[in-house]
Amino acid sequence: MIYLDNAATTYPKPQSVRRALANASMTAANPGRSGHRMSFAASEQIYRCRVKAAELFGAGSPENVCFTLNCTYAANAVIKGMLSSGDHVVISDMEHNAVVRPLHALSKQGVSYTVVTTSEDDEKTLSAFRDALRTNTKLVICTHVSNVWGIKLPVERIAAMCSQYGIPIMIDAAQSAGVFKINAQESGFDFVCMPGHKGLYGPMGTGLLIARRPELLSTTIEGGTGSASLSPEQPDFPPDKFESGTPNYPGIIGLSSGLDFVKSTTPARILAHEAQLTSMLYDRLAKNSRVTLYTPRPEKGRSGGVLSFNVGSYNSEKVAAYLNEKHGIAVRAGLHCAPLAHKHFGTLETGAVRVSPSYFTTQNEILSLARAIDRM
Ligand code: PLP
Repeated sequence: MIYLDNAATTYPKPQSVRRALANASMTAANPGRSGHRMSFAASEQIYRCRVKAAELFGAGSPENVCFTLNCTYAANAVIKGMLSSGDHVVISDMEHNAVVRPLHALSKQGVSYTVVTTSEDDEKTLSAFRDALRTNTKLVICTHVSNVWGIKLPVERIAAMCSQYGIPIMIDAAQSAGVFKINAQESGFDFVCMPGHKGLYGPMGTGLLIARRPELLSTTIEGGTGSASLSPEQPDFPPDKFESGTPNYPGIIGLSSGLDFVKSTTPARILAHEAQLTSMLYDRLAKNSRVTLYTPRPEKGRSGGVLSFNVGSYNSEKVAAYLNEKHGIAVRAGLHCAPLAHKHFGTLETGAVRVSPSYFTTQNEILSLARAIDRM
């Protein structure tokens, strides 16, 4: 199979990640719970992963790195941990349902939100965010890179504007972590949510919440942490505040190895490779008069490794089924859990065919896809 669905989860994982995951699932005791050597060793390994993530993402301290199940859990921890009736939130029109659905759920309890129309012109996007702020705006949420269109939003500038107004900002880095530079401290991101299983090349079932201002969040899950056990109160210090119950130890060890892979390969090289492939695909598809491309040609630094398009009047699901069945090519069609982003480009009815390479994708694989589209 030619796998071009890395925005959903990266495949294959690096050999080192596969090995680490397999070893960890055979050898570990429960970390942070017991006073024996095996438990200490597991805690130490988890702490190392926290240190690596804190360094890579400018978390400020390893304690600000909290392990979650995926990006969605991290987003829920911020949104539900922070907002209550009467609060207002500003989000972009590129947000994933990981953001929209928890907000919609809270809207039934008196939380309101404004969806800002983004633009190719960063200046316009920035002023749209500024215009949407209200006196009761408690949080701004912006995705770093659209999971449908690959468009990178000016999150650093939006964060600087939020800081002027004293409003916290949460970044959804689902498609940018491991690909674009993210430094929460330098950029003033209060919360960064990310999966471990996409651009960080870790296993599914892993995610990270970088919480630079943990004091702003209430807990959404409470339970055993292995610390301060005498008290029925959840510890108020991170990461224990947000990590109850036995962690996904094998997953975290796999993620730790994924972080090593990203660090040694470097996000810049990963981005350069993916950008080269999406630009190549764009140029190739642009020659096919039946293909509709919605965004400008991917530009290094302004787009992530995601490209979506449609073919003739075909529904995108039909195109994906054809690629899968006739050519063994895996892409993702439909709405990609991001209806707002499809509304922006008028593709709510058809959806779009999304191609997302990884560092392991080759030019030949991209050319095979383009040839298969030509033959439709
Ligand atoms: N946010 C964006 C932009 C995404 O692309 C995704 C997944 O594709 C998510 C959030 C949710 O990530 P996860 O599946 O790790 O919860």
